[in-house]
Amino acid sequence: MDRDKIKKIFSYALLIFFILTFITLIIKEVPFAHDAVQNFEKRSLDTRERILANIFNKNTEDNSRVALIVIDDDSLENLSKQYGYWPWNRKAYADIINYLEKDGANKIFLDFMFLGFQQGNEAKDWEFINEVKKYDNIYVSLNFDYREGEEKPDLPLKWSANLDNKSNDINFEDFTFTNVRGAMPELLAATKNVAFVNFQRDNDGISRRAPSFFVYREKYYPYAALKLAQDYLYDKGEIKSQKFVITNDNYIVMDTKKVKLDKEGYLIINWHNKSDVAEVPFWKVMKGEVEKGYFKDKIVAIGASAVSLSDTKNTPLDKYLPGVKFHTAYINNILNDNAIVPVDFKYNFLLIFIFVLLTSILIFNVHSNLINALSVAGLILGYGLISLILLGAFNLWIDFAYPVFLILATYTIVYVVKFIKKSQDFEKTYKLATTDGLTELYNHRYFQEQMLAQVDTSKRYNLNFSLILIDIDFFKKFNDKFGHQVGDDVLRKIAGILKKSVRASDIVARYGGEEMAIILPNTGLEDAITTANKICHAVAENPFKLMGGIECRVTISLGVATYPIHGKVPQDLIEASDKGLYDAKENGRNQVGKVQPPLENVEEEKSEEE
Ligand code: GH3
Ligand code: MG
Ligand code: MG
Repeated sequence: MDRDKIKKIFSYALLIFFILTFITLIIKEVPFAHDAVQNFEKRSLDTRERILANIFNKNTEDNSRVALIVIDDDSLENLSKQYGYWPWNRKAYADIINYLEKDGANKIFLDFMFLGFQQGNEAKDWEFINEVKKYDNIYVSLNFDYREGEEKPDLPLKWSANLDNKSNDINFEDFTFTNVRGAMPELLAATKNVAFVNFQRDNDGISRRAPSFFVYREKYYPYAALKLAQDYLYDKGEIKSQKFVITNDNYIVMDTKKVKLDKEGYLIINWHNKSDVAEVPFWKVMKGEVEKGYFKDKIVAIGASAVSLSDTKNTPLDKYLPGVKFHTAYINNILNDNAIVPVDFKYNFLLIFIFVLLTSILIFNVHSNLINALSVAGLILGYGLISLILLGAFNLWIDFAYPVFLILATYTIVYVVKFIKKSQDFEKTYKLATTDGLTELYNHRYFQEQMLAQVDTSKRYNLNFSLILIDIDFFKKFNDKFGHQVGDDVLRKIAGILKKSVRASDIVARYGGEEMAIILPNTGLEDAITTANKICHAVAENPFKLMGGIECRVTISLGVATYPIHGKVPQDLIEASDKGLYDAKENGRNQVGKVQPPLENVEEEKSEEE
């Protein structure tokens, strides 16, 4: 490829790129279009996660620091004698706390709502409350909401987050609530810790991300999993403070830990790698079927997984994920530093640019449509592969929907441009083949073609047409005097006068040398003579300004012939007008020559002579 070609392709790509950027920006402003692309983007992320989880078998469990006890259907059945039918009496929670504390659990998180005392079972409620009171590592669930008319409890300062939000994007407006509920006051008074479990799904119903902070009475409160992870790391000495900072590029910084949030303040959960935690059934723990020390030093979440309790979430990998697993995945993502990092579109630009460039180079240089289409499909696949590798290796979520849209749009635009160029080339070639370079009149070949065509049409529709032949007077002398260059200039100027003096449907051609011809379709002899005279005067009266300031006048001689009077084939008509032209020259030039007698008369004269 030579330099010019590279330059050309590059400038094309740049142009396309800017057009597409413009389109992208516009689409981003049109809500339904943007939503459609965003939904496709989310689906593409789901697909990437599924591919990574299934094909590369990376949906590995990580039970090293997080454990999960679930109340499953078997637990409901096996423990109904002890705890009754659902909802269980609270002795169940007293028992599990007791067990876990003995087993050395680091944190115990109860993902249940304890809304009020159970009638007739108040003693068991108190047993649970007193058990909670004994320890400082128990987290009771709370939920923010907007309920009016109910008591809006004060929350102790220690449950709020020490957060410094420096983000340019995140303002937690959507996470600002006016009320809180979830635990009866006696339980709240007994517990040292609470965990805020508000949960939101994406607008397509799939849970990909979870909140980071809520705002209640102008104070920040951390999401349950975030709080548990931070407290755990702090206990273990892995971080030295319990302060949160959100940087201007949306990272939560907890001392030495860093977690990326999206622009709305959500953490995007990595479902495909080390987020899963084994589900230990509640009843197995109670029946002593779990090995001693299994929960030692772990964050233990306790939640429901029984289908009848229907606390399930739809995630990219799982249609019925127990809600509590949302928290354990989140905690593991923080502890393992593998939450998904959304890459800002502007940082994604370079990669997109490269692919747009490749697309345009490809389509410009490959002429087979099939190969083109396959290559563009290949490019999209290639881009998809890159996005998959980036997610698998670095947890990076780069845009897929917009780039694919841009690649396809490039493909279309370049195709259209190519098509237009082709038709332009065709036009150029056609023009080259039919026109004379010097005068830009039609050339001799085109003139002959048109003569034949005129004879044809005129015969079929019973019309007439005329031909004017033109020759410049004393042009040889003119050339000798002023030189060929000046002669050429005069030739061009006369051609211009001719074109201006006739109708658009008339065909002005350079017959050869300094001779020109005009075909006047659907024009009789009289009109043709009038036109010829008009042209003759127009040229004679036109002062030609020549190079060097010389001004001079040039004249022409003309001959006229008309179909079918002077002939029914082009040759006869040309001969007749040529004779007229000769006559004009004989008679002193600068005039229209005598019109030849009709062909019949000539023939008659001939026969008479015979
Ligand atoms: P007449 O009045 O009898 O037509 O005299 P003339 O000198 O024009 O004679 P003729 O038509 O035989 O001469 C043709 C001249 O036209 C010869 C040539 O020098 C000039 N000529 C033909 N084609 C071109 C051209 O493309 N450019 C220039 N500058 N001169 C041309
Ligand atoms: Mg001549
Ligand atoms: Mg001449």
